[in-house]
Amino acid sequence: MRALAAKLEAATAAPGPAPARPRVVGALSAAVVDSNPYSRLMALQRMGIVKDYERIRGVTIAIVGVGGVGSVAAEMLTRCGVGRLLLFDYDTVELANMNRLFFTPDQAGMTKTAAAAKVGGGWGVAGWPRANPSHLLSPPQTLANINPDVAVEAYHMNVATVAGFDAFKAAICRARERAAAPTDAAPPPAPSRVDLILSCVDNYEARMTVNQVALELAQPWLESGVSEDAVSGHIQLLVPGATACFACVPPLVVASGIDERTLKREGVCAASLPTTMGVIAGLLVQAALKRVLSFGAVSGYLGYSSLTDFFPALDIKPNPGCLNPACVAAQAAHAAAAAAAPPPPPAAVEAAPEHEDNEWGIECTADDGGEGGGGGSGGGEGRPLPAGVEYSLPAAAAPAPAALAAATAAAAADAHGGAGVDDLMAQLQALGR
Ligand SMILES: [Zn+2]
Repeated sequence: MRALAAKLEAATAAPGPAPARPRVVGALSAAVVDSNPYSRLMALQRMGIVKDYERIRGVTIAIVGVGGVGSVAAEMLTRCGVGRLLLFDYDTVELANMNRLFFTPDQAGMTKTAAAAKVGGGWGVAGWPRANPSHLLSPPQTLANINPDVAVEAYHMNVATVAGFDAFKAAICRARERAAAPTDAAPPPAPSRVDLILSCVDNYEARMTVNQVALELAQPWLESGVSEDAVSGHIQLLVPGATACFACVPPLVVASGIDERTLKREGVCAASLPTTMGVIAGLLVQAALKRVLSFGAVSGYLGYSSLTDFFPALDIKPNPGCLNPACVAAQAAHAAAAAAAPPPPPAAVEAAPEHEDNEWGIECTADDGGEGGGGGSGGGEGRPLPAGVEYSLPAAAAPAPAALAAATAAAAADAHGGAGVDDLMAQLQALGR
């Protein structure tokens, strides 16, 4: 009887399945309540860091390579509420990946894209080569489980093949909603439907594939990499024509004409640390957020050396002698666009509100002299003042510069007890005699 009671107690005390998170439809809520998954993100807007955080719901990001860096980047973007993620990878989850973040042992054998993207219940889908019955009992943690608001598209493919190149490019361009049919008056919109590509691959060929697709589509992208000894890494922003492309400054091993595939030795694998990969994924997604949400500055290149805690940042200009003709054409187009662009208007200093809203209900209104246009701190040049208010020195009676200089000299003379500089010099000489 006691044993049965204990069993019953244990059964009722055991935590049940986590409640499914409801989809957020429509505007993101900024309500500061424990049940709002976006309250901490929307606070960025309230604190003036990001002007319009909700823009992230319209952002599409492609991640090529869902490994140690790419999977973590995908999770970060999912938790940030990005609108759509496109995941590209040809690999499967292995137990040897368990020193990294994101994937779990029960996902071994699944393709990385399926393990990341599919929600519980999607068993037997294409791209999941080996059915593992344990999955039926414990659905893998997936991006859809973390945040159902994010649309995730999984592409199980190797982009660094001829067929993969075409399929990758087609997926980047697929189903783009065009605002209007292109006309002679307006240039056609860029064919890409993606705001940013994040390259998280581990080989040169795949990087060159992303580079080529990006150049052909005028597509900005962020490249990332972690060293084979697992203690350093980097991220790099590549904007066709404006910055170096990946072929502008090839890695030394490639410039030396060595085939990268010959470097791999049997029985020797690259080292990896979840820490370094987490740092690089964090830097990568931080740069991506800054770019797509227009806040802060994104370095052209940002390195990370963990042994010395060194973060070098620099810009890499495009190479006019780049061997990729698409890059040279993009550089020419960028230079022509820069030359044709009208000169920037005089710096309009827009006073950003310190706080988007405030609990005291204080409002700043324009000093336009209109009804209710009082308040404000002083009037700007030429700005009409509200009735009954005037400057301490009326503009009409402002002294001429010569008069102002004379007044300044007189003030200086007053400061020395009414004596001019010549008088003071004479007094000094008299004392010296
Ligand atoms: Zn180039």
